[in-house]
Amino acid sequence: MEGESIKKFNKGKPFHGSKDISNGKLTGTTDTDYFYFFCPKCSDRQILQILDFGIVNEWPVEYAKKDRLKAKKDFTIVFELYCSKCKLHDFVKVSNVGWQGGKLKDSPILKNRGTKD
Ligand SMILES: [Zn+2]
Repeated sequence: MEGESIKKFNKGKPFHGSKDISNGKLTGTTDTDYFYFFCPKCSDRQILQILDFGIVNEWPVEYAKKDRLKAKKDFTIVFELYCSKCKLHDFVKVSNVGWQGGKLKDSPILKNRGTKD
């Protein structure tokens, strides 16, 4: 049940990402088809462990239906990240609702903050 996984994730504590991973500081890449996050505090692309994940929301497409005709559902997934080297412990979300296209420099959130990459 998705409701149960939300309650269990992070033992019910808040899971918003910090400023350490915000505003472009968290990056990553793939080797084969697996994606790896790099620690924003360590050098040389130190790989972060993914300790856990949670489904924040998952439901039939409601967000911007006309612009997202190929979307199968609306969802947001949160990942709990950890660096075994510097002990960074943080969270990042991946979602298919909200901003869905264009260039990062045009992000409505970054523009509202007055931040550029
Ligand atoms: Zn680190």
